[in-house]
Amino acid sequence: MHPNRFSILSRLGNGPHFSPNDKDIPVSEIYGRFVFGLEEMKNRLPKDAFVSLQKVMAGEEDLQPQVASALADAVKEWALSLGVSHFTHWFQPLTGLTAEKHDSFLAFDKNGKAIEKFSAAMLMQSEPDASSFPSGGTRSTFEARGYTAWDAGSPMFISDYAGTKVLCIPSVFVSYTGNALDTKTTLLRSLRGISKNAVEFLKAIGDTKTENVYVNVGVEQEYFLIDTNYFQSRPDLLLCGRSLLGGDMPKGQQLEDHYFGTIPERVRAFMVEVEDELHLLGVPVKTRHNEVAPSQFEMAPIFEEANLASDHNMLTMEVLKRTAESHGFVCLLHEKPFAGVNGSGKHCNWSMATNKGENLLEPGNTPQSNFRFLAVLSCVLRAVFQHQVALRAAIASHGNDHRLGANEAPPAIISVFVGSTLTKIIEAVTGGSDLSKVNVEKAHIEFGIHQLPSIPKDNTDRNRTSPFAFTGNKFEFRAVGSSQAISLPMTVLNAAVADNFAEFTKRFQKKLESASDKNAVLLEVTREFFTESEKIRFEGDGYSAEWREEARRRGLSQLMTTPESYAAFNKPENHKFLISSGVFSEGEFHALNEIRLERYIKHLDIEAQTLVTLVRQHVIPASLKYQERIANAIKAVESVNGGAGAAKNQKWLLTEITSLIEQVFDGVTRIQNEIKTVLDVSDWDKKAQAYATRVSPAALELRQYCDRLEALVEDELWALPKYREMLFLR
Ligand code: ADP
Ligand code: MG
Repeated sequence: MHPNRFSILSRLGNGPHFSPNDKDIPVSEIYGRFVFGLEEMKNRLPKDAFVSLQKVMAGEEDLQPQVASALADAVKEWALSLGVSHFTHWFQPLTGLTAEKHDSFLAFDKNGKAIEKFSAAMLMQSEPDASSFPSGGTRSTFEARGYTAWDAGSPMFISDYAGTKVLCIPSVFVSYTGNALDTKTTLLRSLRGISKNAVEFLKAIGDTKTENVYVNVGVEQEYFLIDTNYFQSRPDLLLCGRSLLGGDMPKGQQLEDHYFGTIPERVRAFMVEVEDELHLLGVPVKTRHNEVAPSQFEMAPIFEEANLASDHNMLTMEVLKRTAESHGFVCLLHEKPFAGVNGSGKHCNWSMATNKGENLLEPGNTPQSNFRFLAVLSCVLRAVFQHQVALRAAIASHGNDHRLGANEAPPAIISVFVGSTLTKIIEAVTGGSDLSKVNVEKAHIEFGIHQLPSIPKDNTDRNRTSPFAFTGNKFEFRAVGSSQAISLPMTVLNAAVADNFAEFTKRFQKKLESASDKNAVLLEVTREFFTESEKIRFEGDGYSAEWREEARRRGLSQLMTTPESYAAFNKPENHKFLISSGVFSEGEFHALNEIRLERYIKHLDIEAQTLVTLVRQHVIPASLKYQERIANAIKAVESVNGGAGAAKNQKWLLTEITSLIEQVFDGVTRIQNEIKTVLDVSDWDKKAQAYATRVSPAALELRQYCDRLEALVEDELWALPKYREMLFLR
């Protein structure tokens, strides 16, 4: 039997107290200890193998068998020296989670003696039995195997927990015919694509030295922490990761006393351990703070190359969850664990840099660099405008539906915020005004030789209601959900921008055939791009009803639910750029969509079933007991004073409770009928729609009656931990 509220409350505060690890060791000494990084490679590999491997890691060469063999030996020695017993290919199937299957180093030599073995073949490729991973039909039955192979762009690392150390090999997961069965393969393709198109764009506009363009990403991760005891006695949190009931909480976040507040001791000890672990794994976590909602927190690393940032965010989520357990907490990564307080997001800070380290989104000091900056900016704006449906769909999930559109998170309408300074400059460009006269507010303006003002760097405008905001020298995609892998949203964004680099280059080269002033042509195409994407720019309050109205007038897409956005994404005009650029094959795209849709349906079904159980086993019995107590109280009063008007207040309460109980019974019947109807729908799109438009609203309605009962029923009878306890007591 799980503990009830009261046994938990009596135990709180008596649990183990955790003290932070020995913090006398500077981070520089432990950082990356569990990563087979450049330094280890250099020390342990023959020189020529090391040189060749560096090229492989930079994506310039394929891994040669001799190098792979030297690498396998070196990694094995390194891992054994640190007490590692197993290895695993660590990959990211289309479920959005990570997967691993451990293999011991155990082997036998010719004489039958036990040895540790790790070969090039074991490093480069393994064949997990993939038949249980979702493939959405890309893998036919005769092709039941998936292959995982090391992604040389992401270093191997050791995961150390529960008393075993395992060598993890970050891997791609593909089918025998080369179809992506994971989210990393497509991310890597998108990164190659954006680099190629950006380099061509730069070359066209006069930069012939750049060989590669990298995408940099810094991920802000929000999460909730609650005591494990509460979690275990809330079937909804246990099964769905979010509360389906509850809300008896007069104090939420309205005093704004949690944001950036003092971090509670127990939480701080947890954070320190998470950071230590991540630092060992070479994840550059840097910041921590309390978030807006009670018991909500955030951490962020220093930005890294996108593929690495993506792997590292997966690791961060794992370490958060795992470390929480040993501190008696559960880390909730769900987008909306508690109604009435803020949900959690994952802001993805995104920028592009050349191989010389120049940030293409950094406004420069010279007019020339600002021409480039504005052109790049125009490509991103047009990318978001053109591919708004794809971006919206990439972040759509059952969890994020509770966040987007609600009055706390970026809205479901995709728009871009650039701040007042850039707005002025963009409008000057599109309006054809004399750029040297643009009055850039708060800025020290240098008039450039080519009619451009220098753009102030300290562009500190903030608009928390925007789903996609320019923040000085990077964009911040804020609508991504907290539990989501960043690979898909980043893949779509990269592909969208790559697509626009290509279009820009094409137009630029065409116009240049009949013009001589390169800068004038550059500005002209930039102007076209700004003009064509004008509708996506919005500086106002993204939460307001006026914005919805305005967005409708502008013809921006408003996809309020996951099924709507997936259906829109499925239309060829909204995803063909992903196919034509080679990021997805037609089959891979449809497989991904099928899997996502299926997961949506399953999650909503689990939630509906859990709610019904919870209501039947907790809400109704507790309410009936209370009903009986009031009825008895009325009888007792009447036995003393049988006159009219006796026990007036008790009777009022009884009527109230009785009517709510009736509503709850009706609500259960209604949701069960809805579930039954949905079961009969065979078309998956329609099924998902039905969950969104029928089951989900029925659940919400039922919840309201339950929450009102929670507020009325005697506290002692209510066995489910309440919001106020879960969120405020540790
Ligand atoms: P802000 O306060 O603007 O959100 P922070 O300094 O808190 O900025 O950074 C948030 C995240 O953005 C961090 O992970 C940081 O490393 C990352 N970041 C900073 N600059 C860039 C950049 N040029 N490209 C990508 N991410 C960046
Ligand atoms: Mg930020």
